[in-house]
Amino acid sequence: MTKKDYYEILGVSRNATEEEIRKAYKQLIKKWHPDKHHENKKEAEQKFKEIQEAYEVLSDPEKRAMYDRYGYVGDVPPNAGGYGGFGGFGGFEDIFKDFGDFINNDIFNIFFGDQRTSSRRRQRTSRRGEDININVDITFEELFKGVTIPLEYERYEICYHCNGEGVEPGSGWVTCPKCHGTGTVREERRTFLGVIVNQYTCNQCGGTGKIPGETCHVCGGTGRVKKRRRIEVKIPAGVEDGTVLRIARAGNAGYNGGEYGDLYVHVRIVGTSNFIRQGNNLIRDIKIDYIDAILGTEIQLKMPDGAVKKIKIPSGVQNGEEIRVYGEGLPDMRTGKRGNLILRIKVEIPKRVSRAEKKLLEEIAKIRRKK
Ligand SMILES: [Zn+2]
Ligand SMILES: [Zn+2]
Repeated sequence: MTKKDYYEILGVSRNATEEEIRKAYKQLIKKWHPDKHHENKKEAEQKFKEIQEAYEVLSDPEKRAMYDRYGYVGDVPPNAGGYGGFGGFGGFEDIFKDFGDFINNDIFNIFFGDQRTSSRRRQRTSRRGEDININVDITFEELFKGVTIPLEYERYEICYHCNGEGVEPGSGWVTCPKCHGTGTVREERRTFLGVIVNQYTCNQCGGTGKIPGETCHVCGGTGRVKKRRRIEVKIPAGVEDGTVLRIARAGNAGYNGGEYGDLYVHVRIVGTSNFIRQGNNLIRDIKIDYIDAILGTEIQLKMPDGAVKKIKIPSGVQNGEEIRVYGEGLPDMRTGKRGNLILRIKVEIPKRVSRAEKKLLEEIAKIRRKK
């Protein structure tokens, strides 16, 4: 590889501005156009080529910086001492990609500078949309059959006008003026160690190197628009208080083609009830008169799901005893199999009794004491 002084070829100083380089190039390319040199056409062609080559490097901030540092651009001879050229460190760089934040960025970029840019530039960073959380209240009665609840909420959807691109249709993309299409902004710093190069992803184009010719007038370039949405959410029977239902992709639209987020429906059971929930079983206290407790009885009881059922209370039932009514509890959220209703017996002893009642009770007492 022959070393050429690109600055000399273009006749500019080493710290020439981009504008100066462009001017010099324009003049030289005119001057050395082979069509103008019939007598020394070969020489002109050679010069013309050199000028183009020099301009290609010096007009590109990255290539120019590399040229300044190493004296060449492109593949490097094997004896160049550690630096593997553009292609050489591909795999190595991948290994470090995820650790980039932990490594001193300055040092990292000295060795891997151009490589990183080229791999980043290709992808527009897509990001998944945010999740949305909504609370839904259901009543105790709705628990039994399950309920379908219409939900209305706002979310970001992909812009219908630009199809999420953020670009006004027809206006296309133009090269980012900040990074000149490289996707990377480069800063050089002179220190006692030499020139330290730091580069970061361009924040104007997000590293894509392109910006919209005109931003979409509907979404303002974000690619997303807020929309009211109505969906129906099925709350399964037997759901527990505080259950969170996930509805995939019903959240906000992603960025740059990223996936939709999810919708999380938080179910709360509201209102009062005579029943205490214990898993799928329901517990209810039942007051029984002491005579009924002794003799046994049958009561009419409204079941948790609203149906009225006759329940037999056996004679001799004890205070605090539990009577199970099978299959009258809550349905299981997954299997639908219902739990039990548990009646907790509270035997009531009257605080006062009538004279007639007292007389009879004394008769009973006599019988019981004889035993
Ligand atoms: Zn940019
Ligand atoms: Zn749009």
